Amino acid sequence: PTALVWFRNDLRLRDHPALQTALKAGLAPMPVYIHAPHEEGGWLPGAASDAWRHRALAALDADLRQRGSRLHVFAGDSLATLQAVAAATGAAAVFWNRRHEPTIDARDTSIRRELRRDGLRVEAHNGSLLFEPWQLETRAGDPFRVFTPFWKAALSIWNLPPLQPAPDTLPGFDAVPGEIPLDALRLQPVPRWDAGFWSSWRPGEHGAASALRAFAAESLHDYRDGRDRPDQSLTSRLSPHLHFGEIAPWRVVAELANAGSPDQHAAYVRELGWREFAHHVLHHFPHTPDANFNPRFDDFDWVEPTPALLHAWQHGRTGVPIVDAGMRELWATGWMHNRVRMIVASFLAKNMRIHWRHGARWFWDTLVDADLANNSLGWQWVAGSGVDAAPYFRIFNPVLQARRFDPRGEYIARWVPELRPAPARLRHAPWECAADDRSLISGYPTTPIVDPAGSRREALEAFARLK
Ligand code: FAD
Repeated sequence: PTALVWFRNDLRLRDHPALQTALKAGLAPMPVYIHAPHEEGGWLPGAASDAWRHRALAALDADLRQRGSRLHVFAGDSLATLQAVAAATGAAAVFWNRRHEPTIDARDTSIRRELRRDGLRVEAHNGSLLFEPWQLETRAGDPFRVFTPFWKAALSIWNLPPLQPAPDTLPGFDAVPGEIPLDALRLQPVPRWDAGFWSSWRPGEHGAASALRAFAAESLHDYRDGRDRPDQSLTSRLSPHLHFGEIAPWRVVAELANAGSPDQHAAYVRELGWREFAHHVLHHFPHTPDANFNPRFDDFDWVEPTPALLHAWQHGRTGVPIVDAGMRELWATGWMHNRVRMIVASFLAKNMRIHWRHGARWFWDTLVDADLANNSLGWQWVAGSGVDAAPYFRIFNPVLQARRFDPRGEYIARWVPELRPAPARLRHAPWECAADDRSLISGYPTTPIVDPAGSRREALEAFARLK
């Protein structure tokens, strides 16, 4: 008998609980992918995510073919598709790994109920997190709202699953009615603005494994102190691979355990802890992608953004070099260093005083690692409206941040070529350039879109009015 294995954000063959369940039960797993963006609620996958997903699905299909199987692709209503494929193949079971976004979770609950009503065996497993969002609670039985105690509780019940290799061979299936080629999903952008992405990324399980190997060999030893330096490549860049489930987080933890000192390892695993925390928060506070966690900010005096203001921020033309470098890195590669994400977000939400929602939407469309839990937590954290958020008055000074974390302005020069001729001092603050030296910054705005110091004061005044 057949079991449908419904692939979603778990695009791998190792450490795949749903696939393992089918194999252990002696069922023949049929890999199924259903394209159903209309079921994602208000957060349809963004363009960069789609571009990544296309390649990750193609990589999964190639790995399946090597083993005698392949990915059976469909588009349309998920429940109706699963019912039709189950009927066509005489499947006895449907297995999947959970996605923890509230809209998807609700959809899956109703799909499970319907399929069980049809007499199928249905199981959902955890394939993407170290802890399920409901596993941890405060002593009072409430969800956590602060990271440190959350993480302490997580470490106290630490128990990760054993690693599982990918199966050597898998059975093949004939095509069933409704099946379509991957290209028919049209996930690849037209025109191909993503062409520049793929020199820095390799979507799929093998790409995830090689990113992890490179990080273990080259960067983990310096991670704790180096992770804040955008001018150095010391973070793992695993975020899109983790988002699409091309590697299990417990494999990342296990494989890095022998690669660096316990200190560096703990510092890295703690960042994975933020990912866990973000999913915990999204599960318990499902409104936070769209609304302030702290309702006090509902009355905040945001500036209604003009298209020109938004465009300047989105395309790296604010005249504040570290902000522009980050936004251009995002546009060119689909990713941005975490420190710079905090700086550009703070600049939008505090200096420009534009609602964080506008920034979250732009990130959602342009990041290859766009993730509802991490993105919502990140934006609300910076804006000051979220759980465990930065106190509002801690407004990043983009010049001091750049001087500290990109001391020679190398990151700025990489992404803002207009400033390459300038010395570090002017790369950080080009408005300090003397009139007769303008050739050093030619083509770059001579005044920032908002004055960092004045706008900081105005933001604090707006915050004070809230009280
Ligand atoms: P590493 O430093 O190597 O960290 C390892 C992994 O830990 C990451 O891959 C990621 O899965 C997780 N992680 C690290 N930091 C965080 C964090 N602060 N919050 C949650 N998880 C974390 N991350 C996303 O994956 N998707 C998003 O859409 C996203 N949006 C963000 C928006 C803002 C405004 C901010 C400030 C942060 C956002 N982050 C997001 C978190 C973080 O910036 C990225 O996870 C990180 O930069 C990815 O690079 P890396 O894999 O090299 O990280």
